[in-house]
Amino acid sequence: MQRITLGDVSIDSIVERSGPWRTPEAMFPAFEPQSGRRHLQQLGPAHYDAGSNRLCIAYRTFVVRAPGRTMLIDTCTGEDKGYGPPLDFPKAPWLEGFRALGLRFEDIDYVFSTHLHIDHCGWNTRLAGGRWVPTFPRAKYVFYRQEYEFWQAATARGDDPPGQVWKMNCEPVVAAGQAELVDADWSLDDMVTLTPTPGHTPFHCCVNIASRGQRAAVIGDLVHHALQCREPDWSTVFCADPVEATRSRRAFLGRAAAEGTWLLPVHFPAPAAGRVRAEGERFRWESA
Ligand SMILES: [Zn+2]
Repeated sequence: MQRITLGDVSIDSIVERSGPWRTPEAMFPAFEPQSGRRHLQQLGPAHYDAGSNRLCIAYRTFVVRAPGRTMLIDTCTGEDKGYGPPLDFPKAPWLEGFRALGLRFEDIDYVFSTHLHIDHCGWNTRLAGGRWVPTFPRAKYVFYRQEYEFWQAATARGDDPPGQVWKMNCEPVVAAGQAELVDADWSLDDMVTLTPTPGHTPFHCCVNIASRGQRAAVIGDLVHHALQCREPDWSTVFCADPVEATRSRRAFLGRAAAEGTWLLPVHFPAPAAGRVRAEGERFRWESA
């Protein structure tokens, strides 16, 4: 993605994987072929591979840099987690992308995940001597308390699918003393704030970034695909509460359209960043 600059802040991203992925029918239970295909055709080949009827989906980490502070938001699937296909991505592209931005692990000051699904907190930890340790030795890992506790409880009950995500990616960070569990009023120098956007997970949060009157937001899985700007009521099969996800999506996109906020969704293909324009009940995605 091309760099976004807001006042004193620059935002880049690191891509772990990008390309045709699931079919729209498999992704959206409410998918309606006639209007769905029309929207996909209008979005074009960057968003939809018509030949294979697959949505183009990326997995990415956003890197937010302000003077004296570097923050990662959402850390992809990571390395050595033992995930089976299709989530057994090679680790080289992410590491190369990280280094291409001139970063070393010790340069990261803050890490935050919009939610604690498998593809949003993977690089939180890495294997060292057979143990999971925080990848970024100096970073403070900020967790939204309710999201953290939800997955902690799910793990304790034995239903944290698919396999020990919280145990590998979150618990070791707390054990190392690098975690801070925060509430919705948390802010970093008034530059980074949170907006709870429940539905995809019960405590999913978007991350607002503001500098010198300009705004952006990392929106995680509030929107998985640009098709959902045209059909905001279509939640994915991965959303815990599809109705609540729709409510959060409509509210957040409506405000972003009114305020001209840059939106940074985790799963959109390049250039990833864009704005939405309101058109009645729908939104139009406009890439950067
Ligand atoms: Zn995701």
